[in-house]
Amino acid sequence: MKTAVKGIVGKTISGVIAARNDTGTGSPRYRVFLMFPDSTYYEFYCCTDDIHGAGGVGDGGLDEVMRMVTANKHSVNYSSFDVPKIKGSYAEKLERLAVRWDKNGNAPEFLLTKDWDRMVSLYWRSKHESECSFVLSEFIDANKAAVDEDAWHSVLCSRFRCNRTGDTYKLDNLSICVLCDRTWFGGGVCSCGGELVG
Ligand SMILES: [Zn+2]
Repeated sequence: MKTAVKGIVGKTISGVIAARNDTGTGSPRYRVFLMFPDSTYYEFYCCTDDIHGAGGVGDGGLDEVMRMVTANKHSVNYSSFDVPKIKGSYAEKLERLAVRWDKNGNAPEFLLTKDWDRMVSLYWRSKHESECSFVLSEFIDANKAAVDEDAWHSVLCSRFRCNRTGDTYKLDNLSICVLCDRTWFGGGVCSCGGELVG
């Protein structure tokens, strides 16, 4: 077990996803992801018999974990979510990432990695301009500049499901939860307690 597992001590678990590889080939065979409300996660996995822990707490919410699970041909055999209402955790997470980016000489590899997350940070700032530190505002500007505009335009035109009604809409007409990435028609607060932006 890697010492990085210490990074999860004290974190609130908001979700658990267990997945297995049914193809009989490939590795790992079993993986369990502990999800945290600040859009980070930690993975335990098993290749043969030992249980291993990942090398660090990962950045990314449910979408990122599901991307990894499907990319490795795993199927989800257990998932459970109960995201607690933690106020301000998104702002704190962004501030932490902004400081890390600043300390590393504004290197692009320390920006958010997905256009989705970059745009969510921009949408969030439009409602919290006065609360943003100088570094955080610069960080969000740099993330915006890194967005692939054409790709994002086509994402905005793709249809996503409203969690309340189950109906699909163009993303442009939906709000996004800053904590769990789920999409909703209308604004306000997500059922997980996260703020809706966009
Ligand atoms: Zn949510």
